[in-house]
Amino acid sequence: MLQKKDFRKQAHIVADMIADHLENIEQFRVKPDLQPGDIRSRLPEYAPGNTEAFADILKAYNDIIVPGITQWQHPGFMALFPSNASYESILAEMLVSGLAVNTMNWDTSPAATELEERMLEWLRDICGLPKHWKGVLQDTASIATLTACIAAREKATHFAIQQKGSAGKTLVVYCSDQTHYSIEKAAMSAGIGKENVIKIPTDEKFALRADLLEQQMQKDIADGKLPCMVAATLGTTNSLAFDPLKAIGDICNTYRCWLHVDAAYAGTAFILEEYRHYLDGIELADSYVFNPHKWMMIQFDCSAFYVKDPMHLQKVFSYDPEYLKKQNSAAINYKDWGIPLGRRFRALKIWFVLRSMGIAGLQEKIRGHITLAQSFFNAIKNEPKWEIMAPFAMNVLCIRHVPEAGMRSEQLNAHNKELLQKINADGRFDLSGTTLRGEYVIRVVIGQSYVEEKHVESLIELLLELSASS
Ligand SMILES: *Cc1c(COP(=O)(O)O)cnc(C)c1O
Repeated sequence: MLQKKDFRKQAHIVADMIADHLENIEQFRVKPDLQPGDIRSRLPEYAPGNTEAFADILKAYNDIIVPGITQWQHPGFMALFPSNASYESILAEMLVSGLAVNTMNWDTSPAATELEERMLEWLRDICGLPKHWKGVLQDTASIATLTACIAAREKATHFAIQQKGSAGKTLVVYCSDQTHYSIEKAAMSAGIGKENVIKIPTDEKFALRADLLEQQMQKDIADGKLPCMVAATLGTTNSLAFDPLKAIGDICNTYRCWLHVDAAYAGTAFILEEYRHYLDGIELADSYVFNPHKWMMIQFDCSAFYVKDPMHLQKVFSYDPEYLKKQNSAAINYKDWGIPLGRRFRALKIWFVLRSMGIAGLQEKIRGHITLAQSFFNAIKNEPKWEIMAPFAMNVLCIRHVPEAGMRSEQLNAHNKELLQKINADGRFDLSGTTLRGEYVIRVVIGQSYVEEKHVESLIELLLELSASS
């Protein structure tokens, strides 16, 4: 085991390794060229019986692990939504790992709890969310949505499921046909059943059609079912579509149904006033999630979950039957705000990033990404053989190459799938593909912390070069 004196020395070495890695990250392919099992076969079958030198452990890390990583912090990482880091958030995580605390209750870590409370207020206010909301940090949007779904279920059934395991009625969850699968997974995990997740069709902008939502809800009520939750998305994963919050919120109000809003990725952009119009109607929501760990440069994991009524949330998740008696206690115990008991100290990296960058610095960064995406959009729009396949918002683009006019959909799909493979095989970029109403599209997200104009220019060059020769 390392001793005190070794730790200081190794910590300096590790800090240098991190700095070197980030400075030289563009020497790596974004995605390593590996087959499943390649890495595992280089790891010994049994744990070592005796102590090994720490230098050897670090060497193996450099030789085996680093080249076997998908480089999420590479500026060419444009496939999924990013999980951006920043130097500030890395430093905060280093300190947190030194403290190694568990933020379950106020008294297990008073400063961690109170910083979390304050940071959720900061995030809420810089993003223009309702002033009276209260929040809690979760690991991921998936868990936040599951938490919302369980809270909604208990609200709809007056705690019958929690107490008796059954409400004697079929519960229904609504979302659009573009919704992230975490909604369906949440409904399955909350015992609502996959069959009772109703996917409402979307309009030409891939936004949920509120008129069809209302019709469906009326039909379900007439059939004796109980509408439990509507999940509206601000910024869908496929094409960054925005559901009409106000119209959906009014329907939820009328039929007394919980409204959960998933803004996992695009939520960060609400630090820019010009995008706040998407939040119109947000005061009608019961819960809301966005991931600072995606686009805010506050690294994974850090998901901000807000509720309108924190008392209800605590009634659902507090395990202490005496809880309601101590309502007056000034202390927050975040273990009562969700599923896990043990919780990481996640608030420090928010504090470091927001203080070091300031609201203005963050706004500049996010605007910068959107400007880069705009220039990419303009370049593709002017190319006769490329098509833009979904309304363009912020920094997600769905595009496809059309080599000849009049090609059938299946041919185009196969062609673009193949083209995507060629683009990714180059190694400097990683893009993803998705399907929009049966049409295969190449999806580009220009939002990595350190992406610059030169990267976008090389990507355009690569796309044009590879599409011309295929
Ligand atoms: C990324 C994303 C999720 C899932 O996020 P996790 O934090 O990985 O669970 C859910 N919904 C939307 C819209 C997303 O973009």
